Amino acid sequence: MESELQETIGQIKSLKRKFGKELVILTHHYQRPEIVELGDYVGDSYALCKKAHQLDARYIVFCGVRFMAESAEILRRDFQMVFHPEPFSGCPMADMAEGEDVQRAFEELDEVWGKNSYIPVVYMNSSAEVKSLSGERGGIICTSSNADKIVSFVFSQKKKVIFIPDEYLGFNTYRKLGKDMSKLAYWDFSLPLGGNTPDELVKREYLVWKGYCHVHTFFSREHILAAREKHKGCRIVVHPECRPEVVELSDASGSTEFIVKYIADSSPGSTVIVGTELNLVRRLAASYNDRRVFELARSMCPNMFKITLAKLKTTLESIPDKNRVLLPENVKKHSREALKRMLDTAG
Ligand code: SF4
Repeated sequence: MESELQETIGQIKSLKRKFGKELVILTHHYQRPEIVELGDYVGDSYALCKKAHQLDARYIVFCGVRFMAESAEILRRDFQMVFHPEPFSGCPMADMAEGEDVQRAFEELDEVWGKNSYIPVVYMNSSAEVKSLSGERGGIICTSSNADKIVSFVFSQKKKVIFIPDEYLGFNTYRKLGKDMSKLAYWDFSLPLGGNTPDELVKREYLVWKGYCHVHTFFSREHILAAREKHKGCRIVVHPECRPEVVELSDASGSTEFIVKYIADSSPGSTVIVGTELNLVRRLAASYNDRRVFELARSMCPNMFKITLAKLKTTLESIPDKNRVLLPENVKKHSREALKRMLDTAG
């Protein structure tokens, strides 16, 4: 088994040499360690999105979930092609906002709030279709690195916000900005008006779509209390897709890049407990072995895990014929506008 894996790694390396500068492999932090090893860049969705926008390579192979590869396809230049080694590696949270439901929400809000009085803020973790529907209406994308900046920007334009599709990032961002929490309401996409009455909606300025990431909502208050008991004096850092009570009880909360930096900046000998995806925590623990880095609890993204060495190898061998990411031109046009608004606003 081990020798088979080594053989596949050798074949991938030789394919990389064959393509040279024509090929770049982008890997998300939550990928298997052996995939990250073979990547040219590792980062969170924001860093990789920016990278995809700047690269000169002709072939971009994206090892992450589908919405990330779609974002690279949206931002690529004309001479480039984007490939995703596992087209079935999707994101359940992104799937909680279907285009049809989002379109209906916009139509209902047009009636109650007025078409020009709000701007959709759409988390990167969403389908290209949802990005496009929002972009068409002046919507803007955000990531967990810049959600506070983007939401503040929209409020500075004197507009209301519907935040799609992560309830928890939406809530945690609004609270972090010190806003009046009575002006927040939830949008349950299975109910008319998101489960609100028109009178309730007119009093709100911020709606959060009821979607969530099961990897991060797995962490609980009890996990935090148990970690503090077991590792006296530890620091706890969590991702803002976690439940508000988990964020509140932790010492710090931020995007994947923030967490990576938090560990890098921690003192040798210290203990840091991390509430995010297991593959990243394990890699950080191995990279910083002069400090104690532990997971808050074992929580893994099974979708990120679907990309294997064998699938990466097959994709490289069959470039440009297999696993290419393709999107309709009109979807790309409007989602590109929404992504570019983010890059222009958050840098
Ligand atoms: S960790 Fe959560 S948000 Fe990220 S891809 Fe997996 S399910 Fe989606």
